Amino acid sequence: MIYVPSRMGQFNRRALLRQLQRFGVATRAELAKSLGMSQPTAGKIVDELLAIRVLEEIEPPEDGGEESVVRGRPGRQLRLNQSQSRLLALQLGLQETAVAGLSLGAADVDVWQVSFLLGRNEPNPAEAWEKQLRLAAAKIGGSDLLGVLLSVPGLVDEGQNRILFSPNIHWTEKADLAAIVRSVWKVPVLLVQEERALALGHHAANPDCDDFLLVDFGEGVGGAVILEGKPLVNSLPISGEIGHTPVLGNQRRCGCGAIGCMETLVSLRGLLESFTRDQHGKKTSWTGLQEHIFKHGLPVWLAESLEAAAVAIAGALNVIGLRRVVITGSLTELPPVVMAHLAQAVQNGSMWAKFGSVECVAAPRRRTAGLVAIGIDRMVVPDAKNDSAPQISRRQKVALT
Ligand SMILES: [Zn+2]
Repeated sequence: MIYVPSRMGQFNRRALLRQLQRFGVATRAELAKSLGMSQPTAGKIVDELLAIRVLEEIEPPEDGGEESVVRGRPGRQLRLNQSQSRLLALQLGLQETAVAGLSLGAADVDVWQVSFLLGRNEPNPAEAWEKQLRLAAAKIGGSDLLGVLLSVPGLVDEGQNRILFSPNIHWTEKADLAAIVRSVWKVPVLLVQEERALALGHHAANPDCDDFLLVDFGEGVGGAVILEGKPLVNSLPISGEIGHTPVLGNQRRCGCGAIGCMETLVSLRGLLESFTRDQHGKKTSWTGLQEHIFKHGLPVWLAESLEAAAVAIAGALNVIGLRRVVITGSLTELPPVVMAHLAQAVQNGSMWAKFGSVECVAAPRRRTAGLVAIGIDRMVVPDAKNDSAPQISRRQKVALT
C-alpha cells in the first residue's frame, strides 16, 4: 500500500521518517518535539506508518538481552522496520546482477544475497536476464514488498524510468528493465542511477557530510554530486559523467564511442590493461596489482592515470564549487599510496586548495543504504511532484525522441 495523502501530510511524514533515520530510535514525543509538530499529529503519522509496517515499536532490553518488537504501546521506542525486507534492491553490472532484500532500518555497507552472471555474448540479453531474475526471485522470495529499486549505470532518466544511454551495457537502452522486473515481483519498480544511489548512501551514513562529489571507480568511472544533502538538480538527465572526460594522448576506445576517455585508463579493465602492458603481456590479476604496488610502490603508468582522473575531478570541484571528494570502489582496495597520490593530484588542480582545504577521502560503497533512502522518499511517501528524481522538460523529451 502506498500513501496518497495531502501535500502537507506527505511533507510531515517525510520529515518524520528523515528524523527517525537520523535518530535511529525515538519515541513519539521525541519525534514531535524535535520536528516542532504537535504530539497528536506526530502520533497519527506514527500509527499510520506502524499499520503499514514501515515503522516498528521496540522494547528496550531489560537485562542486557535482546530487544524485542512490540505493538501498540504509546511510550515505546520506534524505529524504521528492521525485522522485514520491505524493499528489494537489484544492482545491474556489466555481467553480474546482485539482489538483496532490504529492511527500511539501518543499512550500512552493501550485503548482496544472490547474484548471477550474464554471458558477454548472450544473443538476447534482456530475455536471459529475465530468466535469471525469475530464478533469483525463487531463491530470495519477496512477499510484502513495497517495491524494487534497480541500480543501473549510464544516463538514466529517473522520472521516466528508462535508460537513455549506457556506454558499457548498451542492451539496457532498448529493454524496458522496469517492466521486466515488475513482471517478476509484481510491485512498483524504480530505476536509480548507480552513482546517485552511492552518493545518497554515503550521505545517509554521514549526515553531516552534505556537500560533496562522489566518484566511484569500478567497471566504469562515474560520479554524483550532493548539495545541501540532496542530489544536484540539473536540466538534463546527465550528471557526474566524469569518466568520459577525454585524456590527451590516450588512444583507447571507450564504450561511449569516443577515444581517450579517462575511464579507459582507471576502470578495472583499464587498470588491468595498463598493468598487463607494463608486465610485457604477462597474465595479470587484481590481487597481482595489489601485491605489485605493495612491493614496488606506485608504478609510473598508474601515477599518470590517477593524475588524469584528478584533472577531471578537480575540474568538477572548480566548476561546481565543492571542497570534498568521496572516492568509492576499486581504487580504495589498492594500497594507500594510490589514494594518497590521487588526493594530492586533486589538491593540485583545485582552486579552493590554494587558500582553503580540499578533502579527498576513501569510503565504502553504500549502495543499498542509498537505495533505501530513495525507496523511503519515492515509494513509502511519494511526493506528487516527485522532486527527488531529476526532471526532464517537455522540450528535452521531444529532443530525445
Ligand atoms: Zn567514454
